[in-house]
Amino acid sequence: MGLLFLGTPLAWDEARQYADHVRTHGITQFLHIWDRLKDRCGDELLWGDEIEYMVALFDNQERTVKLSLRQTEILAKLQAIVSDIASECGQADSVPTFHPEYGRFMLESTPGSPYTGEIRDLLGVEANMRYRRCLARKHLKPNEVPFTMTSFPRLGTPGVFTEPYFDPADAVSSHSLFLPEEITNPHARFPTLTANIRRRRGSKVAINLPLFIDERTPRPFVDRTIPWQRNIYPEDSEAKRGAALLDHIYMDAMGFGMGCSCLQLTFQACNITEARRLYDALVPIAPLMLALTAASPLWRGYIADVDCRWDVVSASVDDRTEEERGLKPLKESRFRIPKSRYASVSLYISEYWMNRPEYNDIEAPHDPDIFERLRQHGVDDLLSRHIAHLFIRDPLVVFSETIDQDDQNSNDHFENIQSTNWQTLRFKPPPANSPIGWRVEFRPMEVQLTDFENAAYAVFIVLLSRAILHFNLNLYVPISKVDQNMARAQRRDAVRSQKFYFRKDVFPSASSQPSRASSIPSSPCSEHGGQIPINGVNGKEKKLRNCFPLPPMPDDAFIPRSIEDEYEEMSLEEIMNGKSARFPGLLNLVYMYLETLDVDEESGRKIEEYLDLVRRRTNGSLRTAASWMREFVRSHPAYKFDSAVSDEINYDLMVAIDEIERGLRKAPDFLPANAHPRN
Ligand code: ADP
Ligand code: MG
Ligand code: MG
Ligand code: MG
Ligand code: MG
Ligand code: MG
Repeated sequence: MGLLFLGTPLAWDEARQYADHVRTHGITQFLHIWDRLKDRCGDELLWGDEIEYMVALFDNQERTVKLSLRQTEILAKLQAIVSDIASECGQADSVPTFHPEYGRFMLESTPGSPYTGEIRDLLGVEANMRYRRCLARKHLKPNEVPFTMTSFPRLGTPGVFTEPYFDPADAVSSHSLFLPEEITNPHARFPTLTANIRRRRGSKVAINLPLFIDERTPRPFVDRTIPWQRNIYPEDSEAKRGAALLDHIYMDAMGFGMGCSCLQLTFQACNITEARRLYDALVPIAPLMLALTAASPLWRGYIADVDCRWDVVSASVDDRTEEERGLKPLKESRFRIPKSRYASVSLYISEYWMNRPEYNDIEAPHDPDIFERLRQHGVDDLLSRHIAHLFIRDPLVVFSETIDQDDQNSNDHFENIQSTNWQTLRFKPPPANSPIGWRVEFRPMEVQLTDFENAAYAVFIVLLSRAILHFNLNLYVPISKVDQNMARAQRRDAVRSQKFYFRKDVFPSASSQPSRASSIPSSPCSEHGGQIPINGVNGKEKKLRNCFPLPPMPDDAFIPRSIEDEYEEMSLEEIMNGKSARFPGLLNLVYMYLETLDVDEESGRKIEEYLDLVRRRTNGSLRTAASWMREFVRSHPAYKFDSAVSDEINYDLMVAIDEIERGLRKAPDFLPANAHPRN
């Protein structure tokens, strides 16, 4: 979340009257940015991560763990020390920043300034993450711990799961049967978002995760922890009228999804063309990384039959009306909309020859007037479609003070729509009046329990992104296949149980072997003073960079008879380790890219530790966090094989996770021996 504006948010009935206003001015704002910055070129690689934490409070007498709702106080303290350090050392830039998040038990941290392409920055990511965790820890109570855990297993269970306790009866924004009003960040934006999603949709959100059926799970499973007969809000009867499915874990509020934590990465590209190219290339990578980072098998006191947060978050902010969801014929609503606002990418956006029109093969409605307006202004077809697709959504939070904006100098209305389209990738235009360039955000990954793992996945994706640009790899598969992969990625033990659609041949032409696409020194930005790689020993490059040339389509580009011949189903291990000379595997492509860099031995060893984690999670010699947690619960002496995660089991699980994070407990089936803190 960026800066939070303090103002008066409009309730839905009023906010909706400004929807067209916000969209129209949002597009005007985008066009100003486009006019000014579409030819901007030569931005260096800058990148950064975002890590979300949940603060948990241990009661070691009672042996329980609860979520601590002290976000406001904790952030105030953290902000104070951050400005202290900054003024003492004059280093405001390198002091990490902490941000509020949806849950009142959550924190988010980012590095104080983005990392560059220097190898030492790559190797500093883990220390930076540790430093941030350490800062957070220092400003918590002695029995509070900042967890990097995707979902809290007891969120929304009967009884007490927060400190202090609040009764769900007071949930005036969500009308939830399970989560109190106070679960949500009190800043006006968040309760308003919550209430307006419910009002726009016309009912509470309905999340149903398949239950993991264990040996003694009662069948059919009728959840006795749902207050079926409650009668406080008009929506209370939804559960018994069909919203809650048998054999599922039912959840009914935004907090179940937006209360999840994840790991995100943002990359600056050298120009808009490279940003669009990178965006597309990472679209098919997203489900693979979701499967590999799977870390959320436990929900509302039960074990789920899925391992990831994705569909929960998606359903938790699904503000589509019944008409938009296709349950009723269109009357009031303008479009049938196949996906929630939080969903996988529906459109590739690059104009490079590799992006064949056939790959955009799913229904992705767009606003025809906005599309026309963008086209008339000179924005190309693909980008116009992308923006016009994002802009089928209504703004959910409108502040009365900022309805009228200076469209030349503000991007607020644009961001209002953009930042409430939560997709696997986000294409981020430069903010107005800032030195920041065109960026791409990679958003599918679940946050990992330790900073070693978070750093490993971050480093892997940075290197993969460079390998893709460096070798000019073609990773396109039809987007319908990416969506199938997204569904598969969330299944239990997807890493081992599922196959994923992937390209058989990733090189740009039939004859080209993995050669260095960038050895031609015509970087797209050379005329604009773009960076020229500084070479070290043997002509190897000293840093990761941007500005890779995009060669024209080669004469012998591999064009199969049909798109279906381009891809096949592969195991994750095949995708990582390779299947043939035409597809050596993502890990090997990263190694080939590393070969082009001037990396000293020690740095090489550390990078290898990270890549080894990715390899071992892929081949199953190490479990994912989800698999490890599921196993922990199922082998707990108090577990009754009835799919339920009691307070007692949860306490022991959280103790174990904290000990693993601090290097006090070994988990050899989950982490390599060398993964413990070294500082
Ligand atoms: P959001 O919540 O909108 O995704 P945040 O501000 O929380 O964004 O995080 C943005 C991330 O991008 C941070 O890790 C930050 O270090 C990084 N970043 C900042 N400036 C740049 C830049 N110019 N290019 C790439 N990344 C950047
Ligand atoms: Mg966040
Ligand atoms: Mg953020
Ligand atoms: Mg933000
Ligand atoms: Mg978030
Ligand atoms: Mg982000």
